[in-house]
Amino acid sequence: MSENRLDAEDAAAVVRRYAQAVSGLRDLLTELDTAVGDGDHGTNLDRGMRAAVEALDADHPDTPGAVFNLVGRRLVSTVGGASGALYGTAFLRMAKAVGDATSVDTAAWARALGEAAEGIATRGRCEADDKTMYDVWAAAVRAIDSGTGQRSMTDALAAGAAAATEAEERIRPLRARRGRASYLGERSVGHRDPGAVSSQAFFACLADEAAT
Ligand code: ADP
Ligand code: MG
Repeated sequence: MSENRLDAEDAAAVVRRYAQAVSGLRDLLTELDTAVGDGDHGTNLDRGMRAAVEALDADHPDTPGAVFNLVGRRLVSTVGGASGALYGTAFLRMAKAVGDATSVDTAAWARALGEAAEGIATRGRCEADDKTMYDVWAAAVRAIDSGTGQRSMTDALAAGAAAATEAEERIRPLRARRGRASYLGERSVGHRDPGAVSSQAFFACLADEAAT
């Protein structure tokens, strides 16, 4: 991400990096989802991100918005379960927020990620501390947003990744109030939320790609 701007190549590199991360996390995500849900989060997301990368290989979209739009549509169509709709919505919101610009600066990228987080909340009808992926997105976006303008894109995204990691840890003792984990009631306390873990990985990939 040269000169504090995200272009189509950077966006595609983030998606590829995330697909690789999800593939490595597949068994852990499945294990976590087996404890609190139906055990499909790892396979769901891995299938979706593989399909997203295939779509990028076939299409070569030439703006960040076109990359996110393609990925969002692929996730919605290939990932079953709640997370397909939620991640799909997040990518489609990012696409809409950045429009057809050939590259976006840190402030615009922060706004797009904020729109994605809002999209997850609307789609999931969830709030802060419901113990879902939204808690990680909200924390990361807050950290990325604070002080953009003074910071490089790399520093902003590193702050986002740190906040995402903290949030995933912070919500472990909470009781899940949305998604399948909420069916467990008190028994969800102490478990890691699978979507929070996969979202933490997304913000880690953003930061790592920005640091290259
Ligand atoms: P499913 O729950 O349909 O099996 P996945 O297992 O792929 O879908 O994804 C589960 C993750 O999705 C959860 O760990 C949680 O982070 C997220 N999630 C599920 N429902 C909601 C919701 N209503 N709002 C926000 N996030 C949710
Ligand atoms: Mg599941």
